[in-house]
Amino acid sequence: MIRFEQVSVTYGDAPAPAIGGVDLTVPEGELVLLVGPSGVGKSTLLGTVSGLVPHFTGGLLRGRVTVGGRDNRTHKPRELADLVGTVGQDPLAHFVTDTVEDELAYGMESLGLAPDVMRRRVEETLDLLGLAELRDRPIATLSGGQRQRVAIGSVLTPHPRVLVLDEPTSALDPAAAEEVLAVLQRLVHDLGTTVLLAEHRLERVVQYADQVILLPGPGLPPVVGDPERIMAV
Ligand code: ADP
Ligand code: ADP
Repeated sequence: MIRFEQVSVTYGDAPAPAIGGVDLTVPEGELVLLVGPSGVGKSTLLGTVSGLVPHFTGGLLRGRVTVGGRDNRTHKPRELADLVGTVGQDPLAHFVTDTVEDELAYGMESLGLAPDVMRRRVEETLDLLGLAELRDRPIATLSGGQRQRVAIGSVLTPHPRVLVLDEPTSALDPAAAEEVLAVLQRLVHDLGTTVLLAEHRLERVVQYADQVILLPGPGLPPVVGDPERIMAV
Protein backbone atom coordinates (compact mmCIF):
# COMPACT_ATOMS: atom_id res chain seq x y z
CA MET A 1 0.00 0.00 0.00
CA ILE A 2 2.94 2.31 0.75
CA ARG A 3 6.25 1.96 -1.09
CA PHE A 4 9.41 3.83 -0.32
CA GLU A 5 12.06 3.53 -3.02
CA GLN A 6 15.50 4.99 -2.29
CA VAL A 7 13.88 7.74 -0.23
CA SER A 8 16.19 10.39 1.24
CA VAL A 9 15.36 13.71 2.88
CA THR A 10 17.88 16.46 3.57
CA TYR A 11 17.00 19.60 5.54
CA GLY A 12 18.56 22.93 4.63
CA ASP A 13 22.33 22.88 4.97
CA ALA A 14 22.40 19.85 7.31
CA PRO A 15 25.66 17.91 6.78
CA ALA A 16 23.85 14.57 6.42
CA PRO A 17 20.40 13.49 5.27
CA ALA A 18 17.76 13.04 8.04
CA ILE A 19 16.84 9.76 6.33
CA GLY A 20 18.89 8.15 3.60
CA GLY A 21 18.16 5.53 0.95
CA VAL A 22 15.08 3.98 2.58
CA ASP A 23 13.52 1.05 0.70
CA LEU A 24 10.40 -0.29 2.39
CA THR A 25 6.95 -1.67 1.66
CA VAL A 26 3.98 -1.31 4.03
CA PRO A 27 1.35 -3.93 3.20
CA GLU A 28 -2.34 -3.04 2.87
CA GLY A 29 -4.57 -3.59 5.90
CA GLU A 30 -1.83 -3.87 8.51
CA LEU A 31 -0.92 -1.81 11.55
CA VAL A 32 2.76 -1.06 11.11
CA LEU A 33 4.76 0.46 13.92
CA LEU A 34 7.71 2.75 13.16
CA VAL A 35 10.10 2.86 16.12
CA GLY A 36 13.49 4.31 16.90
CA PRO A 37 15.14 6.86 19.16
CA SER A 38 14.22 10.53 19.06
CA GLY A 39 15.74 12.37 16.09
CA VAL A 40 16.25 9.28 13.95
CA GLY A 41 13.83 10.43 11.24
CA LYS A 42 10.45 8.90 12.12
CA SER A 43 8.47 12.12 11.60
CA THR A 44 10.39 12.82 8.43
CA LEU A 45 9.54 9.42 6.97
CA LEU A 46 5.86 9.85 7.89
CA GLY A 47 5.92 13.32 6.35
CA THR A 48 6.88 11.87 2.99
CA VAL A 49 3.65 9.84 3.07
CA SER A 50 1.37 12.65 4.23
CA GLY A 51 2.88 15.23 1.88
CA LEU A 52 4.22 17.44 4.70
CA VAL A 53 7.67 16.66 3.27
CA PRO A 54 8.61 18.38 1.05
CA HIS A 55 5.75 20.90 0.88
CA PHE A 56 5.85 22.39 4.39
CA THR A 57 9.11 21.39 6.06
CA GLY A 58 11.63 22.59 3.52
CA GLY A 59 13.15 19.11 3.35
CA LEU A 60 14.61 18.08 0.01
CA LEU A 61 13.03 14.75 -0.94
CA ARG A 62 14.75 12.29 -3.26
CA GLY A 63 13.51 8.89 -4.40
CA ARG A 64 9.92 7.77 -4.83
CA VAL A 65 7.01 7.46 -2.37
CA THR A 66 3.82 5.85 -3.66
CA VAL A 67 0.58 5.27 -1.76
CA GLY A 68 -1.96 2.98 -3.44
CA GLY A 69 0.06 3.40 -6.63
CA ARG A 70 -0.15 7.22 -6.52
CA ASP A 71 3.08 9.20 -6.40
CA ASN A 72 2.92 11.32 -3.27
CA ARG A 73 5.78 13.65 -3.95
CA THR A 74 3.66 15.73 -6.27
CA HIS A 75 0.60 16.08 -4.01
CA LYS A 76 0.01 18.52 -1.20
CA PRO A 77 -1.57 17.19 2.02
CA ARG A 78 -5.04 18.53 1.22
CA GLU A 79 -5.03 16.87 -2.19
CA LEU A 80 -4.30 13.56 -0.45
CA ALA A 81 -7.23 13.71 2.03
CA ASP A 82 -9.11 10.79 0.46
CA LEU A 83 -5.95 8.67 0.43
CA VAL A 84 -3.94 9.58 3.53
CA GLY A 85 -5.19 10.82 6.91
CA THR A 86 -2.57 12.40 9.18
CA VAL A 87 -2.71 12.84 12.95
CA GLY A 88 0.04 14.34 15.12
CA GLN A 89 0.98 14.28 18.80
CA ASP A 90 -1.01 17.25 19.84
CA PRO A 91 -4.68 17.03 18.91
CA LEU A 92 -5.24 20.66 19.91
CA ALA A 93 -2.98 21.77 17.07
CA HIS A 94 -5.27 19.92 14.71
CA PHE A 95 -8.68 21.40 15.55
CA VAL A 96 -10.32 24.18 13.57
CA THR A 97 -13.88 24.16 14.94
CA ASP A 98 -15.48 24.13 18.42
CA THR A 99 -17.55 20.97 18.74
CA VAL A 100 -17.00 17.28 18.05
CA GLU A 101 -19.61 17.08 15.32
CA ASP A 102 -18.38 20.19 13.48
CA GLU A 103 -14.84 18.90 13.62
CA LEU A 104 -15.80 15.61 11.98
CA ALA A 105 -17.70 17.44 9.24
CA TYR A 106 -14.94 19.93 8.52
CA GLY A 107 -12.53 17.52 6.80
CA MET A 108 -15.10 16.67 4.15
CA GLU A 109 -16.06 20.18 3.20
CA SER A 110 -13.28 20.64 0.67
CA LEU A 111 -14.10 17.31 -1.02
CA GLY A 112 -17.42 18.47 -2.47
CA LEU A 113 -19.41 15.53 -1.08
CA ALA A 114 -23.21 15.70 -1.09
CA PRO A 115 -24.77 16.91 2.20
CA ASP A 116 -26.49 13.56 2.87
CA VAL A 117 -23.20 11.67 2.37
CA MET A 118 -21.46 14.06 4.76
CA ARG A 119 -24.19 13.59 7.38
CA ARG A 120 -23.99 9.80 7.02
CA ARG A 121 -20.24 9.79 7.38
CA VAL A 122 -20.37 11.94 10.50
CA GLU A 123 -22.81 9.47 12.09
CA GLU A 124 -20.75 6.46 11.00
CA THR A 125 -17.56 7.99 12.41
CA LEU A 126 -19.18 9.01 15.71
CA ASP A 127 -20.24 5.36 16.15
CA LEU A 128 -16.95 3.87 15.00
CA LEU A 129 -14.92 5.91 17.48
CA GLY A 130 -17.38 5.74 20.37
CA LEU A 131 -18.02 9.50 20.23
CA ALA A 132 -21.80 9.58 19.72
CA GLU A 133 -22.54 10.82 23.22
CA LEU A 134 -19.98 13.59 22.90
CA ARG A 135 -21.18 14.98 19.56
CA ASP A 136 -22.31 18.39 20.88
CA ARG A 137 -19.50 18.82 23.38
CA PRO A 138 -17.03 21.67 22.99
CA ILE A 139 -13.68 20.04 22.22
CA ALA A 140 -12.05 22.12 24.97
CA THR A 141 -14.00 20.13 27.59
CA LEU A 142 -12.82 16.66 26.43
CA SER A 143 -10.12 14.45 27.94
CA GLY A 144 -6.85 13.85 26.10
CA GLY A 145 -7.93 10.43 24.83
CA GLN A 146 -11.28 11.78 23.66
CA ARG A 147 -9.57 14.66 21.83
CA GLN A 148 -7.21 12.31 20.08
CA ARG A 149 -10.16 10.16 18.97
CA VAL A 150 -11.84 13.29 17.55
CA ALA A 151 -8.62 14.15 15.70
CA ILE A 152 -8.57 10.65 14.20
CA GLY A 153 -12.28 10.90 13.34
CA SER A 154 -11.79 14.19 11.55
CA VAL A 155 -9.33 12.66 9.08
CA LEU A 156 -11.39 9.45 8.68
CA THR A 157 -14.50 11.00 7.17
CA PRO A 158 -12.94 11.29 3.67
CA HIS A 159 -12.38 7.47 3.97
CA PRO A 160 -8.60 7.49 3.57
CA ARG A 161 -7.03 4.11 2.82
CA VAL A 162 -3.98 4.98 4.89
CA LEU A 163 -3.76 6.57 8.31
CA VAL A 164 -0.42 8.06 9.40
CA LEU A 165 0.02 8.91 13.09
CA ASP A 166 3.04 10.58 14.68
CA GLU A 167 3.29 9.62 18.37
CA PRO A 168 -0.48 9.89 18.84
CA THR A 169 -0.36 8.63 22.43
CA SER A 170 2.67 10.51 23.73
CA ALA A 171 0.59 13.12 25.58
CA LEU A 172 -1.78 10.49 27.00
CA ASP A 173 -1.83 8.40 30.17
CA PRO A 174 -1.75 4.60 29.67
CA ALA A 175 -5.54 4.15 29.85
CA ALA A 176 -6.22 6.88 27.28
CA ALA A 177 -3.43 5.51 25.07
CA GLU A 178 -5.09 2.10 25.12
CA GLU A 179 -8.40 3.70 24.13
CA VAL A 180 -6.76 5.22 21.04
CA LEU A 181 -4.81 2.10 20.09
CA ALA A 182 -7.93 -0.06 20.36
CA VAL A 183 -9.67 2.28 17.92
CA LEU A 184 -6.79 1.98 15.46
CA GLN A 185 -6.85 -1.79 15.69
CA ARG A 186 -10.58 -1.77 14.95
CA LEU A 187 -9.99 0.37 11.86
CA VAL A 188 -7.46 -2.11 10.53
CA HIS A 189 -9.58 -5.18 11.23
CA ASP A 190 -13.04 -3.89 10.33
CA LEU A 191 -12.27 -1.51 7.45
CA GLY A 192 -8.93 -2.75 6.12
CA THR A 193 -7.32 0.65 6.68
CA THR A 194 -3.51 0.63 6.56
CA VAL A 195 -2.07 2.28 9.68
CA LEU A 196 1.50 3.56 9.96
CA LEU A 197 2.24 4.72 13.47
CA ALA A 198 5.47 6.26 14.83
CA GLU A 199 6.27 5.82 18.50
CA HIS A 200 9.44 5.90 20.56
CA ARG A 201 7.88 3.89 23.42
CA LEU A 202 7.91 0.45 21.83
CA GLU A 203 6.40 -1.37 24.83
CA ARG A 204 3.23 0.68 24.75
CA VAL A 205 2.33 -0.12 21.17
CA VAL A 206 4.08 -3.30 20.11
CA GLN A 207 1.26 -5.66 21.12
CA TYR A 208 -1.04 -3.91 18.61
CA ALA A 209 1.37 -4.11 15.66
CA ASP A 210 1.32 -6.58 12.77
CA GLN A 211 4.78 -5.50 11.73
CA VAL A 212 7.56 -3.27 13.08
CA ILE A 213 9.98 -1.02 11.22
CA LEU A 214 12.96 -0.11 13.40
CA LEU A 215 15.11 2.89 12.52
CA PRO A 216 18.17 1.97 14.61
CA GLY A 217 20.15 5.20 14.26
CA PRO A 218 20.86 8.17 11.98
CA GLY A 219 21.84 6.98 8.51
CA LEU A 220 21.41 3.29 9.36
CA PRO A 221 19.07 1.21 7.19
CA PRO A 222 15.69 0.19 8.66
CA VAL A 223 15.22 -3.26 10.19
CA VAL A 224 11.84 -4.83 9.43
CA GLY A 225 10.25 -7.74 11.24
CA ASP A 226 7.39 -9.09 13.29
CA PRO A 227 7.02 -7.67 16.81
CA GLU A 228 8.78 -10.59 18.57
CA ARG A 229 11.77 -10.43 16.31
CA ILE A 230 12.17 -6.68 16.81
CA MET A 231 11.76 -6.97 20.60
CA ALA A 232 14.75 -9.32 20.50
CA VAL A 233 16.97 -6.78 18.64
P1 ADP B 1 12.07 11.67 14.95
O1 ADP B 1 10.67 11.82 14.49
O2 ADP B 1 12.57 10.27 14.86
O3 ADP B 1 12.32 12.28 16.29
P2 ADP B 1 12.66 13.70 12.95
O4 ADP B 1 12.20 13.20 11.63
O5 ADP B 1 11.78 14.67 13.66
O6 ADP B 1 13.02 12.46 13.89
O7 ADP B 1 14.07 14.40 12.80
C1 ADP B 1 15.17 13.80 12.10
C2 ADP B 1 16.28 14.82 11.98
O8 ADP B 1 15.91 15.87 11.10
C3 ADP B 1 16.65 15.50 13.29
O9 ADP B 1 18.04 15.72 13.30
C4 ADP B 1 15.90 16.82 13.24
O10 ADP B 1 16.55 17.81 13.98
C5 ADP B 1 15.92 17.14 11.75
N1 ADP B 1 14.74 17.90 11.32
C6 ADP B 1 13.45 17.47 11.41
N2 ADP B 1 12.59 18.38 10.89
C7 ADP B 1 13.36 19.40 10.44
C8 ADP B 1 13.07 20.65 9.78
N3 ADP B 1 11.81 21.01 9.46
N4 ADP B 1 14.12 21.46 9.49
C9 ADP B 1 15.39 21.09 9.78
N5 ADP B 1 15.73 19.94 10.40
C10 ADP B 1 14.73 19.10 10.72
P1 ADP C 1 -20.82 6.82 1.54
O1 ADP C 1 -19.53 6.39 0.87
O2 ADP C 1 -21.90 7.15 0.56
O3 ADP C 1 -20.59 7.84 2.57
P2 ADP C 1 -21.12 5.06 3.78
O4 ADP C 1 -20.72 6.21 4.63
O5 ADP C 1 -22.29 4.26 4.18
O6 ADP C 1 -21.39 5.51 2.28
O7 ADP C 1 -19.84 4.12 3.68
C1 ADP C 1 -19.66 3.23 2.61
C2 ADP C 1 -18.76 2.11 3.04
O8 ADP C 1 -17.53 2.63 3.57
C3 ADP C 1 -19.35 1.25 4.13
O9 ADP C 1 -19.31 -0.10 3.67
C4 ADP C 1 -18.45 1.42 5.32
O10 ADP C 1 -18.22 0.17 5.98
C5 ADP C 1 -17.16 1.89 4.71
N1 ADP C 1 -16.45 2.77 5.63
C6 ADP C 1 -16.91 3.34 6.76
N2 ADP C 1 -15.97 4.09 7.36
C7 ADP C 1 -14.87 4.00 6.60
C8 ADP C 1 -13.56 4.54 6.70
N3 ADP C 1 -13.21 5.33 7.70
N4 ADP C 1 -12.69 4.23 5.73
C9 ADP C 1 -13.04 3.44 4.71
N5 ADP C 1 -14.25 2.88 4.57
C10 ADP C 1 -15.17 3.16 5.48
